[in-house]
Amino acid sequence: MPQKTGSVPKRKTSKRDIKHGKNVVSRKNKTIPISVFGNVMKQFDAAAKKLNTDSSVLEFIKIPRRSTIANLPVKMDDGSFKMFKAYRVQHSIARGPAKGGIRFHPNVNLDEVQALASWMTWKCAVVNIPFGGAKGGVVCDPFKLSNGELERLTRRYVADMMNLFGPDDDVPAPDVGTGPQIMAWFMDTYSMRENHSVPAVVTGKPITLGGSLGRSEATGRGVMISTREAAKYIKLDLSRSTAAVQGFGNVGSISAKLLHELGVKFLYVADVHGAIYNPKGIDIKKLIKYVEKEKTIIGFPDSKTVKSDSVLTAPVDIVIPAALENQITEKNAPNIKCKIIAEGANGPTTPEADKILDKKKILVIPDILCNAGGVTVSYFEWVQNRIGYFWTEEEVNRRLEEKMVMAFSDVLNMALKNKTSLRIGAFMLAITRVVEVVHLRGIYS
Ligand code: GLU
Repeated sequence: MPQKTGSVPKRKTSKRDIKHGKNVVSRKNKTIPISVFGNVMKQFDAAAKKLNTDSSVLEFIKIPRRSTIANLPVKMDDGSFKMFKAYRVQHSIARGPAKGGIRFHPNVNLDEVQALASWMTWKCAVVNIPFGGAKGGVVCDPFKLSNGELERLTRRYVADMMNLFGPDDDVPAPDVGTGPQIMAWFMDTYSMRENHSVPAVVTGKPITLGGSLGRSEATGRGVMISTREAAKYIKLDLSRSTAAVQGFGNVGSISAKLLHELGVKFLYVADVHGAIYNPKGIDIKKLIKYVEKEKTIIGFPDSKTVKSDSVLTAPVDIVIPAALENQITEKNAPNIKCKIIAEGANGPTTPEADKILDKKKILVIPDILCNAGGVTVSYFEWVQNRIGYFWTEEEVNRRLEEKMVMAFSDVLNMALKNKTSLRIGAFMLAITRVVEVVHLRGIYS
């Protein structure tokens, strides 16, 4: 059952909200907000139904253990103070410390952070790393804040929530709108307050501060590996295949670059500013260079601008949604033509859309498997910080390859055995792994 507390506040939704990717869907001429946490609950319930597990244990593992909300005062460059709403949700610590990124985005809200935190629990369980799940968020537009303002906001976030974090408690990482510099400020603030350096309190740090080689490419590399495994399974020859990617940030651009290296031709690319198309294939390496300079894909030579909506429904073999949640809904799912959807983003497909894609026999590699490369290398970073010895990039990539291939095969086997989708298979696998530790540990009460 979708949780009441998880539903987003009811208010009129404007056209602007829709344009900016707010979580809404139109039904019978009414615009209804989609609760992202409600979506996770539906995914969980669909998988739990197929498992023979004690319902009280299921109830215990499905609900976030702790949600913290804070209002942070931050001094702006002009000397004024501004308030920022901030969240940290720890969904589970059953399998290990809570783990998950911090998002800086104007649309962050409790519903979304709770959803993202629970996906982290299931994601860590799918790749079998010893972490629970968490997520943080701050309602802000990082592109409109100066470096100084971002630094003060980050430090205040850590200071206010200091008690939650720690290498054995809760270990943040980057997410949408945050990156290595913000993780460096996070590590420094936490360390100053502890009076010694604590690199393992956060992952996704710059390499010189204890970050792991391969971490910045890890999510995209994981998307590439799982797409390659999926292509093998449906006998799609990647060197003759075509693709479209929605989102050209860290995940979208690196997934596209690595798949491009395997011969995949990207015909469509979209970012927040719009979409581009080239029937002969877009040179992804050149596009990455272009975006570094221009901050947008628009205007890239040898491409024409097309409607953003056309990217997900493009006539290509592989579609990679690598932006935000609720992009594939019951509205556009009937028009999707690809063979594989590789979810680089968290929660890009609604449960209603999943049913449609299932009927159309489109193979969806679910987020909790497809984009798990990021948190997997975060785990490697945490391990390296704790042993104080660093691996080569080849070593990191080899271990990532091993984890992703194993997770893909575990999920596929679970799905085939239960005659279900990869998403439900992945949830079944993850729930089984979490339930196993809960049974061993017992519920302390
Ligand atoms: N934010 C990333 C995710 O959604 C990475 C989390 C982490 O490394 O802890 O998976």
